[in-house]
Amino acid sequence: MWCISRYFQNKKLRQLRNSRIPYNEWHIVINNIALLNNLSSAEKVRLRQLTGLFLARKTMIGVRGIELTRVMQISIAAQACLLILNLGMEAYNGWVELVIYPGAFKVNRNFTDANGLVHQEKQDLSGESWERGPLILSWDSIEQESRQLIPGHNVIIHEFAHKLDMLNGRANGMPPLHPNMPIEIWTRTLSQAFETLNKNLDHFHYSYINPYASTNPAEFFAVISEYFFTAPNILHKHCPQVYTQLKQYYRQDTLQRFS
Ligand SMILES: [Zn+2]
Repeated sequence: MWCISRYFQNKKLRQLRNSRIPYNEWHIVINNIALLNNLSSAEKVRLRQLTGLFLARKTMIGVRGIELTRVMQISIAAQACLLILNLGMEAYNGWVELVIYPGAFKVNRNFTDANGLVHQEKQDLSGESWERGPLILSWDSIEQESRQLIPGHNVIIHEFAHKLDMLNGRANGMPPLHPNMPIEIWTRTLSQAFETLNKNLDHFHYSYINPYASTNPAEFFAVISEYFFTAPNILHKHCPQVYTQLKQYYRQDTLQRFS
C-alpha cells in the first residue's frame, strides 16, 4: 500500500542528501565565523545539515552590484540556522526570499510627532524583515559581525528572530511557544523586563542592553535574541528569567556554550 508518510520521509532524505554542503566550503565558513566557534561537534554536524536545507529552500538575491559567492551564502545561511538549530527548518516556513545589499539601505518611514503631525524621513537600515515577504540584509554588517563577536549585535540573529516571531502572525514579541511553555509566564517575564527597561531609560539610568529594545515588544524580542546568542552572560546577569524563557524557546543553553 502506498504510504504518504514514507513518501515524505524519503523526499526529506533525498533533499538532505542533495543539499549537503561540501566539506571544503563548510570548513572555511565554520572556522571564520566567531559566533559558530564554540558549538559542539554534534551541533556543527546538525548546523551543516540545516544550512544545506536552508540554501535549497530559500533564494538569495544580491542587489546594487553585489555578487554573492557560495561562501557568502553559506555564511548567511549558517548564522540564520543557528537560531533554529533545535527548532527545525519548519520554523522558517511561509517565506522564501533574502535580498542582500552591499551596505546600509535607505527606507522611507512615517512618524508622528508630539503634536500628532505625520512626517516622513529617510532611514539607513542594515536589516529588515517583512511579514510573509523577503528578509533584507546588508553585507557590510554581516561581514563585520561574522569576523568578530560583537556582544549584543548581530543583524542576522535580529532579523531572523523577527521571522520566528512572525510565524504566528504579526511580530509582537511572542513566537509560537512549545507546549511545555506557559504563555502567561512568557508574557509576564518579558513584559516586566520591557517595562523596567523603558522606565530606566525614561530616568536616564544605565541600560544593560541596546536601548533600541525599548522600541516595542517585537524589537525587544529581536534584541534579547541577539544577546542570547552573542552575549548570554549579560542577559543572564541582568535578566535571568528572560534568559530562561529564551533557553526554553530556542532549546539551547548558550550560557553554558560560552563558559
Ligand atoms: Zn527589528
